[in-house]
Amino acid sequence: MSDNHTLTNIFYKNYLPSFISKKTVALSLYLTFILSLSILSVASAAQNSMPTDDEINANLKKFVAVKLKTDLSQLSENQRQMLSLLRDAAMIMDDIFWQQAYGSRDKLFAKWPKQSIQKLLAIHYGPWDRYSGDKPLFAKGGIKPPGANFYPADMDKRELEVAGQDNPALISPYTMVRRSANGKLISIPYHQFFATEHKLAAEKLRKASGLAQDPGFKRYLILRADALLNDDYQASDFAWMAMKNNLLDIIIGPIEIYEDKLGYKAAHEAFVLLKDMAWSKKLEMYAKLLPSWQKQLPVPQAYKQDSPGAESDLGVYDVLLYAGDASATRAIAVHLPNDAEVQLIAGSRRLQLKNAMEAKFNHIVKPMARLLIEPSQLDHVSLQAFFNNTMYHEIAHGLGVKKLVVSKNSVESALKENSWMVEEGKADALGLFIAAKLQQKEGWPRDKLLDSLVTSFTSIFRSIRFGSSSSHARANLIRFNYLKEKKVFIRSPQGLYRIDPKRMEAALSSLIAIILRLQGDGDYAGVIKFEKKYGTIGPQLAKDLQRLQNAGIPQDAVFE
Ligand SMILES: [Zn+2]
Repeated sequence: MSDNHTLTNIFYKNYLPSFISKKTVALSLYLTFILSLSILSVASAAQNSMPTDDEINANLKKFVAVKLKTDLSQLSENQRQMLSLLRDAAMIMDDIFWQQAYGSRDKLFAKWPKQSIQKLLAIHYGPWDRYSGDKPLFAKGGIKPPGANFYPADMDKRELEVAGQDNPALISPYTMVRRSANGKLISIPYHQFFATEHKLAAEKLRKASGLAQDPGFKRYLILRADALLNDDYQASDFAWMAMKNNLLDIIIGPIEIYEDKLGYKAAHEAFVLLKDMAWSKKLEMYAKLLPSWQKQLPVPQAYKQDSPGAESDLGVYDVLLYAGDASATRAIAVHLPNDAEVQLIAGSRRLQLKNAMEAKFNHIVKPMARLLIEPSQLDHVSLQAFFNNTMYHEIAHGLGVKKLVVSKNSVESALKENSWMVEEGKADALGLFIAAKLQQKEGWPRDKLLDSLVTSFTSIFRSIRFGSSSSHARANLIRFNYLKEKKVFIRSPQGLYRIDPKRMEAALSSLIAIILRLQGDGDYAGVIKFEKKYGTIGPQLAKDLQRLQNAGIPQDAVFE
């Protein structure tokens, strides 16, 4: 159902931007009328093809509902009160994300009153299957626009980029794009488009700051509240980097650019977090090793000239709540802030989300391994390695270059909508490079490295199942085919895999060199060629993925 991806959407909203004239409204109401007629016909057609219970249940079965566990007994009464305010603020991000990803959730739910359907729509934040390349969930559903609801549905990438040259606000991460009366693209800053929501969330954060005892957290909450009122997030990002000792934390606002497949708009999200102090201390030391790893990257000097922030802060957290984009992607680790200036000056923080990771390992990775990995290597698929790999992946985001080798432009602007896919692929491959370096440095037994390699290999299948609309999935598919070409694994006729660790290390090293060059050169065409060569699901892999599905292994965990 693509109807809400239209002009109608913003006019139903109660915060019609003040600069839109009455004439615009009149025209739009006329358009709304026309569109409503077409909606009616689509809706009645869809009514006839209502999905059957079997179809709905088949999709719902791809998810396992897991209750996230954590110990809240250590919280003071003050902190409990603060937690409830943070939760309120987070849920506002969820409302905004719905509008960015689709449009009005209430209208969509009204159209599909059946509870099981609503459950499905809530998991996908709209009527498109996030795990199958955004295909419509139901017959007769429209196609999801690549720019979701951030832009007018009839706009294409070229129109945006041409108009964006004269008006850079159109391609700012913090604006919604709509059409004016004469059809021109206009940008509306988030703090105006979502004025009601941003104000309310800011108020909640400010109230929470009144309860905060940690001075760093108090300051961050105040600055983040300010940022929601003007869309200038940098000061609050610096404040977030500066705080160290707070038990509770919240990541909130427009942050990641995953939802907009045109690659410009940050989507709203929130994580409410509880820090695991003991674990975090243990991991701090790894960040100090970043500069030495940067020097050892298997590329010429030019591709490793940046000095990574050794100050980077590595923390372990339990998730209390996911909202918005975070809930749609259900990340098990986070690397923030994204602001490259803040990263260069203050470094970045890498957060491992322990309880979420454990849930995914127990319900997905381990059961998958039993179907995919040869018995002789099955014991190498371990929770500890899964946890470590995710940590190495997060550290690895800090390695390599952020700016092109030949100019001062950012890698991100050069690789555009593919930049995240390449960056995730880099972090996965480099994460295992870090594991190998630690093995040499710390004198680990080889088995520990083998744990990392086999667990990572198993995890490739988990990621590919996220579907082609996920940057992570595309990156993992490329890695799978690359490792296959390098004969890193053998597959028994029963479909059980065994990897050769030596070959895997060598293949990863050459893959890293390719990726770091694509990034350093900002080689947009090269990335497309690379994905064309390695980015397809071959018949054997398709069969294995089907086998996982037939065995009823969920694609992902939905957290309660
Ligand atoms: Zn990542």
